[in-house]
Amino acid sequence: MKIGGFYSDSISNGEGWRAVLFISGCPHHCPECHNPESWDKDYGELYDEDDIYNQIIENPFLDGLTLSGGEPFLYCQELFSLVKRVKATGLNIWSYTGFTFEELLRWSERNYDVQAFLQEVDILVDGKFLIEKMEPKQRFRGSCNQRIIDVQASLKEQEVVLYMA
Ligand code: SF4
Repeated sequence: MKIGGFYSDSISNGEGWRAVLFISGCPHHCPECHNPESWDKDYGELYDEDDIYNQIIENPFLDGLTLSGGEPFLYCQELFSLVKRVKATGLNIWSYTGFTFEELLRWSERNYDVQAFLQEVDILVDGKFLIEKMEPKQRFRGSCNQRIIDVQASLKEQEVVLYMA
């Protein structure tokens, strides 16, 4: 797996102070994507879990880790260990995805890695970026079809529970 970049602190990719990991590889190809170089799974540097983890724990001000892309859910197996380790320190996990929550749920029924990964994600910003639904004033998302979802509440209720409308 390759990564297109890593920010050790950011305030624009989720709530609070966050580390942000940009995963390379995206099958969605949304027109006017903000990060088209990330479509190529070979873009950027090789992922080094320990290096990323160490940079995260060295920053005492962080609230959590955000996974962005690219498409993080292509790499559930590769990211699972980092997410587990980061959560064990008390930080939360946000993930962006071009899939909808419902698509991920169906995928998770036949893919254990997706199922296990979903169990670790706190907040999901789901859906493709749709230029015709672009809404610059919305926080943390590019178009108004995208939802900010409380994943654990949604798994429990078996329906989407929004974290932030
Ligand atoms: S899902 Fe995100 S990274 Fe992938 S094409 Fe759409 S906007 Fe770009």
